[in-house]
Amino acid sequence: MQVLRTVNEIRQAVSSARKAGKRIGFVPTMGNLHEGHLQLVRQAHTNCDVVVVSIFVNPLQFGLNEDWEQYPRTLEADIEKLTSVNTGFLYCPTESEMYPNGMATQTKVEVAVMTNVLCGASRPGHFLGVTTVVAKLFNMVLPDEAVFGIKDYQQLAVIRRMAEDLCIPIQITAAPIARAEDGLALSSRNGYLTAAERPVATHLYQSLCWAKQQIEGGRSDFAALEAEAKTQLKHAGMRPDYFSVIHQKTLEPAKAQDKQIAILAAVYLGKTRLIDNVIINR
Ligand code: AMP
Repeated sequence: MQVLRTVNEIRQAVSSARKAGKRIGFVPTMGNLHEGHLQLVRQAHTNCDVVVVSIFVNPLQFGLNEDWEQYPRTLEADIEKLTSVNTGFLYCPTESEMYPNGMATQTKVEVAVMTNVLCGASRPGHFLGVTTVVAKLFNMVLPDEAVFGIKDYQQLAVIRRMAEDLCIPIQITAAPIARAEDGLALSSRNGYLTAAERPVATHLYQSLCWAKQQIEGGRSDFAALEAEAKTQLKHAGMRPDYFSVIHQKTLEPAKAQDKQIAILAAVYLGKTRLIDNVIINR
């Protein structure tokens, strides 16, 4: 695996691979890699010959009081893991390579409306940072396909919409959520949890599964269901941010007759913000 740091280097590497007839897959990440990220790389390999992974802890998508500084940076361990899943190129741009004109005057890519709800409501500017950096990464790497985790459900929906609206000729593929044995979705932020908080975290997935069962069992009073789930989460020791039964594509509140539903939730456990979701096809 080659580690590349500049736009010119990654462009040249990808261009040579494409000239050799290879299909290029791309997995953008913020590093501190775990099994969930590695599954995305494996998924990319199913349709692609060469996989590029990027690691960039994007300051533009973190709020002022969020964890950008604290976010774990573990490049050596990441390199070892990526090598084990046959990653072709690791692209680690510096901040000045990504934002040579500074962040304040950077041209932004904005997906409207669906970025104002759920995580977007609690993290103003977050998705603007995500779509801007992903659009830049797409243009830097120029892959044929890019793989994103369903773990970040809203992010995936927003990126699909960006690709559709801007006619970006990259296939966007979704990969399932990798979980710990107790069901907690793997996340770099799980490392912030204390030993006492870690067993509590499992209740997020449990509440989502409970709500899913309720809906599959015929319940369609979604607002009441959301309120009950939030109460469960509070009793478990978490501070729910949102617990929302939504339409899979529009991210709008689900209607009783909707067939394609997702339940998205975000909670604070101590200082850690956790998100997770389940999908229901009726
Ligand atoms: P991150 O490094 O957290 O920005 O995530 C990079 C990519 O990995 C995103 O597409 C995430 O959705 C995906 N990802 C993170 N955690 C998981 C997980 N537990 N299962 C599947 N994909 C994940």
